[in-house]
Amino acid sequence: MTTTLSIMPFGGVRENGKNMYAVTVGEDIFILDAGLKYPESDLLGVDVVIPDFAYLVENADKIAGVFLTHGHADAIGALPYLLSEVKVPVFGSELTIELAKLAVEAEPEAKGFDDYHVVRGNSEVSFGDVTVSFFETTHTIPESLGIVIETPEGQIVYTGDFKIDTTALPYYRTDLARLAQIGAKGVIAVLADAAGTASYGLSAHESELAEYVLDSFRAHKNGRIIVAAVASNIQRIQQVIDAAYKVGRKIVISGNDLEKVVRTALRLKKLHLPMPENELFVSLKNLSKLAPEETVILETGKMGEPIRHLQRMAQGDDRNIQIQEGDLVFITTTPSTAMEGYVARTRDMLFRAGASVKQISTDKKSSGHASKEDFQLLLNLLKPQHVIPIQGEYRVLNAAYHAAEQVGYDDDHIWLLAKGDNLRWDGEQMFLGGSIQVGSTMIDGSGVGDIGSIVLNDRRILSEDGVFIAVVTIDRKKKKIVATPKIDSRGFVYVKTSRDLIREAGELVEKTVAEGIKNTKEFDWGNLKNSVRDALGKFLFEQTRRKPVILPVIMEANQNGRRRKRSASKTNNKSTDKPVAAPKQAARKPKPKKKVPGAQGQGNGAQQKKQQAPANQQVKPAGATEEGAKKKKRRPRRRKPKATQGEQPVSAE
Ligand SMILES: [Zn+2]
Repeated sequence: MTTTLSIMPFGGVRENGKNMYAVTVGEDIFILDAGLKYPESDLLGVDVVIPDFAYLVENADKIAGVFLTHGHADAIGALPYLLSEVKVPVFGSELTIELAKLAVEAEPEAKGFDDYHVVRGNSEVSFGDVTVSFFETTHTIPESLGIVIETPEGQIVYTGDFKIDTTALPYYRTDLARLAQIGAKGVIAVLADAAGTASYGLSAHESELAEYVLDSFRAHKNGRIIVAAVASNIQRIQQVIDAAYKVGRKIVISGNDLEKVVRTALRLKKLHLPMPENELFVSLKNLSKLAPEETVILETGKMGEPIRHLQRMAQGDDRNIQIQEGDLVFITTTPSTAMEGYVARTRDMLFRAGASVKQISTDKKSSGHASKEDFQLLLNLLKPQHVIPIQGEYRVLNAAYHAAEQVGYDDDHIWLLAKGDNLRWDGEQMFLGGSIQVGSTMIDGSGVGDIGSIVLNDRRILSEDGVFIAVVTIDRKKKKIVATPKIDSRGFVYVKTSRDLIREAGELVEKTVAEGIKNTKEFDWGNLKNSVRDALGKFLFEQTRRKPVILPVIMEANQNGRRRKRSASKTNNKSTDKPVAAPKQAARKPKPKKKVPGAQGQGNGAQQKKQQAPANQQVKPAGATEEGAKKKKRRPRRRKPKATQGEQPVSAE
């Protein structure tokens, strides 16, 4: 009987980074890498993006393990989040596992996980009739491994990030002989790193790059040298250490992540120091004691991405390091196409702050990934029946398609997959079937996946057109408005110079609410707010051609006639941004009976929930979160038990 095989990407295809693939053999799922990517600049406020692995969580009992190729963030960065949800064994080389542990321990939900298994290039791990083995590859971090899943049907090979560099140091060398052996056994499909196949020209050998780093250090005689590197690019860090030693400079390490990576690599002897550690490294707090011409600062920034941190330094936002006249900022990463604009802006900021800037990628083609020729050589050695280019945008995958064509593959044997595609093998041929929906999960600070597209869309609108807030107080029983609408805005128009607009908007709100409460028998907060939002949205767009986020806040006056006049007439401008933060509180409110389709995104969800909130005993001023809290303290006993559900008895978004 044939064993069913399928290959499903969760990331890494048609995008940069975020490698994660699942190979299912019969009932067992083998996860290959669990990487993250850094957002392109349009994801406002999002730190990192990880694959959406809901499918894997649902099928957790089938997962045989996670197999990691190397210690870069695009291979291990999502592991802490995956392990927060499913506890499955993790396999990888010693360095990879140590770096994975650093990441996992930093994530509270995954902390304490301890099912790691160190493997080497010659290890084999058996899972019933499936054997997983490995092969050594060349990449910019030592101990990178490719993975072979040997099934009764044949082998599936995953290269991980790799390139072929004949001058590589021993522990960076690709095991070409082993590749040929794997090929001789019969390979059904290879998932091959295509990231470098779209660029022309030969990549510089790492030995040339080491020379280049040294030359750059030699040429900058007087000021400090600040090197921006990816924390896990241990090869680059080694080159910086060697160059610093040769020109007689000392190294200051900036950033906790980098420090941990360097410590780990030193302990495993993957980094080598040409002189005693205490003579070469200087702690960050002693930075000011070093003369500029003796200083090298090695920085990587938060979560392993160095460019954003350079911006902070240039703007004087970093506590310890500010860019100063005479600094050389040496950017040793090669930005992806999506990041190029961002890097260009950063360079500009650095220049303005007085630094000169050098970027390795403008002078040398350095890449940790297979060139077109490397990719073709790999195909020649492995001789797979099917080629699946991975690790790149569509443009890149397409270049790999042509590279594969050149060595004799036809269209039926090259697969440019999308996330969630299910590529299946029936014993004779490959076909696509039973694909699933796979998105991306945004991580903002410590929150995982609570940033959806609606939140991002709101952030975008807020950043472009600001927010417009209208607060009205009504008496539901008497069906009338009891306080004139209060209008405020942030980032939309300057209230003081736009009096007419604000007044007209206020009148419009009054009119809309008055009609709304008069005409309806069944009182519906949601409808009332939507009509205010629609009317205001139309009016503001007509007047200003802008579309701010509109927050109608409709408050209810005391039903028992105990309304406090003072509050009703008072405005509280300071807290106008409070309603935006309301969803947290809204989550504790009873569920709405009726859903109103949202027109303005995130705000609506909160509003719909709020609209069912118990009617209040008193009138509160606009967005009166703080105010409300104070009052609560003053007169706790006068609140009805019902009202304890919400801090803000009023309806706010
Ligand atoms: Zn990598």
